[in-house]
Amino acid sequence: MGKPESPVGMVELAGWSGQKHRGFLERGLQLLLLLVTGALVALGLLHAAHSRGKQLTLFPSRLCFSKEEKTIVKRKPRAIPQPKEMDDICTSPGCVIAAARILQNMDPSREPCDDFYQYACGGWLRRHVIPETNSRYSVFDILRDELEVILKGVLENSTTRDRPAVQKAKMLYRSCMNERMIEKRDSQPLLNILDVMGGWPVTVEKWNEGVGPRWELEQQLAVMNTQFNRRVVIDLFIWNDDQNSSRHIIYIDQPTLGMPSREYYFNEGSNRKVREAYLQFMMSVATMLRADMNLPENSYLVQEDMAQVLELETQLANATAPQEERHDVTTLYHRMSLEDLQNKFGLKGFNWTLFIQSVLSSVKIKLLPDEEVVVYGIPYLQNLEDIIDVYSARTMQNYLVWRLVLDRISSLSQRFKDARANYRKVLYGTTVEEVRWRECVSYVNSNMESAVGSLYIREAFPGDSKDAVRELIDKVRAVFVETLDELGWMDEVSKKKAQEKAMNIREQIGYPDYILEERNKHLDEEYSNLNFSEDKYFENGLQNLKAGAQRSLKKLRETVDQNLWIIGAAVVNAFYSPNRNQIVFPAGILQPPFFSKEQPQALNFGGIGMVIGHEITHGFDDNGRNFDKNGNMLDWWSNFSAQHFRKQSECMIHQYGNYSWDLADNQNVNGFSTLGENIADNGGVRQAYKAYLKWMAEGGKDQQLPGLELSYDQLFFINYAQARPSPRPAATPLVRPQVWCGSYRPEFAIQSIKTDVHSPLKYRRLPLRRGHPHAPARALPRLVAMGEPHCVAHAHPPAEARCPFCARSWSSGRGQHRVRPAPGAQPRHPGRVAPPGALRLQPRALRPSPGDLFNCLHPLSKASLSAVQASDLS
Ligand SMILES: [Zn+2]
Repeated sequence: MGKPESPVGMVELAGWSGQKHRGFLERGLQLLLLLVTGALVALGLLHAAHSRGKQLTLFPSRLCFSKEEKTIVKRKPRAIPQPKEMDDICTSPGCVIAAARILQNMDPSREPCDDFYQYACGGWLRRHVIPETNSRYSVFDILRDELEVILKGVLENSTTRDRPAVQKAKMLYRSCMNERMIEKRDSQPLLNILDVMGGWPVTVEKWNEGVGPRWELEQQLAVMNTQFNRRVVIDLFIWNDDQNSSRHIIYIDQPTLGMPSREYYFNEGSNRKVREAYLQFMMSVATMLRADMNLPENSYLVQEDMAQVLELETQLANATAPQEERHDVTTLYHRMSLEDLQNKFGLKGFNWTLFIQSVLSSVKIKLLPDEEVVVYGIPYLQNLEDIIDVYSARTMQNYLVWRLVLDRISSLSQRFKDARANYRKVLYGTTVEEVRWRECVSYVNSNMESAVGSLYIREAFPGDSKDAVRELIDKVRAVFVETLDELGWMDEVSKKKAQEKAMNIREQIGYPDYILEERNKHLDEEYSNLNFSEDKYFENGLQNLKAGAQRSLKKLRETVDQNLWIIGAAVVNAFYSPNRNQIVFPAGILQPPFFSKEQPQALNFGGIGMVIGHEITHGFDDNGRNFDKNGNMLDWWSNFSAQHFRKQSECMIHQYGNYSWDLADNQNVNGFSTLGENIADNGGVRQAYKAYLKWMAEGGKDQQLPGLELSYDQLFFINYAQARPSPRPAATPLVRPQVWCGSYRPEFAIQSIKTDVHSPLKYRRLPLRRGHPHAPARALPRLVAMGEPHCVAHAHPPAEARCPFCARSWSSGRGQHRVRPAPGAQPRHPGRVAPPGALRLQPRALRPSPGDLFNCLHPLSKASLSAVQASDLS
């Protein structure tokens, strides 16, 4: 449902472009060598320390606390004890590897109090360049790369004992890898489906006279939706009713576009280059297909037709609402009868009943006399009224089929991908296609996530991790609930409701049990309609498209399955679903540096603990707060609390909106669109740290890492930082012990700032509140559970703030926080509530891809990817 069905589709829609290129083996060997070297060095240091009977001092001058800090620590009964004895040092393989990783990623020559980012991630940055196939590269991406290596191994391992679901996944993979046959068949499979669609006028002689007179927009849109899972011009999909989380309902919304965001269609500067490359791409493909159909070359016709297509799509883009205007789900949601829909949005005679019934007929569902729909895209439909009859049937058909062709390019022979290369370069900055096996692994995993998940779990997931993660969730959740009590801006009534909601959040950890149960037929039944052929990759993809559409549409008459997993297991990401009040931590993210039973708890709390806090906080961000403990859109806030939430949100919007990103042509971050993620980032690390303090105070005994003289809380923060490296430090004096290490290509930065609901990595910093009266003596200031922006500091110019790495105050003299006027409008698309097809939960999708809830999906109320409407982590 709603997923782009091919790796290409992902790339086209969301922007992530594959990955590296430089030999993976080469890189992997280098990494392994470095790890082993680091481990040996660490062990050597440890041995030396033991010999001397004391621990090595790694950075003695920097890692100390001021007198004031120590005083404060003493006042706090839950202060973390520092390791004094060698017995505290863990020398297990897991700890040695963790120590080596931390050492390698750091740059101890940097002063942590001046530039924590370089201190924590300098080593990582020195050792990595962005691969030519990638538009961004970070610790997250490396984990995804490594996961794909595992999947490659299991998908290529042939055995006769595989159950049907697994056999089909392996067959799909082999067909994707069958490049010889893909080249041999060339464009023929695509030409076959153009007939099904009524032809692509630009490649058909006399289309106007032949098909034209019989052409119906309603039918064409229905075919695109049901056969190819492409919801073009009008987005129609089935999802949980926001107001009644137990049932499904029909949604009507504005559509996605061929390019990743609406701004590309009419803004100048770099957008013009992208637009020109997009048009050239269209014309090239049309010219190639005309030749394949033995039609005479006609560059004038091709130019004329494709220019019309771009003009139409530009009008559609202009009709869509920018992301910041789709921020509030409560104002987006309009439930109405079919009759009302027809009366309010006549669209010059568009027959809504015919369109919707045509779609539902594909799954044998009949419209009810009192059928209701929810319209999300009212402004779009109003604008569409003035567009829909301006363009001819030929142009409209040219556009619909172009969207199908665009989606299928990745399934075709190399010359079609070559025709796309320049467009991708201008759009993403990538110059090399993803290596084939990675594309195929990603494609199979995103289309058969349960089958692939079962292979991944058996191969790489320690079964007893589930319980340990569940305990961590309980600890972070308990802190969240306790912290609610400390919030001065929330009244008792709202606190009680919030606590109930937090306690009612259901968790999914690792994977659904049924995928490992040999006697449970559910896994095989999921794929019972699929019959792949090793020689027909293109048609296999079509089967996936149709099956995805049908799975989604069928749900209309089904009650909501609250136990349904909204994402596969082999995914390096985490999610919150407001419609389900559910947090999900796939097995793919339950690995170091985020989590391991073999590493100190400081690393687990700073890693997966922070992720848990992030996802829980999504339940209370600007979107999640509109849903109650059962996932129903319901206003449970008192006026007092809601008013203060909004006030503090404005502060955070202003704060992030003032960050300008040099890499993205100095555009400002969109404070509105990123609000939910920024709230989650801020809340998550605070809760995790507080939970760690509490665990220690209650008798938890942690262990130190060899070769490092980092205190427990320093370990917490350095793992938090290294879990996601970020590029250069921000040009603001905000305390920056945060990190998210990683780098972007400029082209992708420009796209990302328009489309990603997450702030750029470098702004996902640790929320220390400088100058606040409760400024931290150790690491964090007053811990808040949610919605209390650290930007309060800006209202009260900071005098000082401290981090656990600093003995001295942070000076505010290192540059002024650049307060600029609130960002005018950096509109984004898709809107806050993204159409299901725009996002996709899958490993690579955590990359900005069409499948990407890039990494913490959108804080949406509806599922984006397959069935998910969720907020993801990255
Ligand atoms: Zn998130």
